[in-house]
Amino acid sequence: MSAIILEVLALLAGITGITMLVRAGASRTRPGVRLQQEANRRAIEQRAALTCPIHGLQAEETLVRLPDGGTLCAACYQEALVDHPPS
Ligand SMILES: [Zn+2]
Repeated sequence: MSAIILEVLALLAGITGITMLVRAGASRTRPGVRLQQEANRRAIEQRAALTCPIHGLQAEETLVRLPDGGTLCAACYQEALVDHPPS
């Protein structure tokens, strides 16, 4: 029984070690750096899409989906369409 536990622990340690080596290697190689830069770009684009120029960063679930597919923050929607309805 204890041999099985030791084998499982050795397997987990091996998997952890390999994962750490892959992560360390990926951050130092050219493709790894490129992947990290693309991930940074996606994060910045995601944050920009959630940021209203007037009201700042908004939670994704509070945005209003417009008929044309764009999004608007709830405060801007309130001001533009409810307080000043189109005539
Ligand atoms: Zn807004």
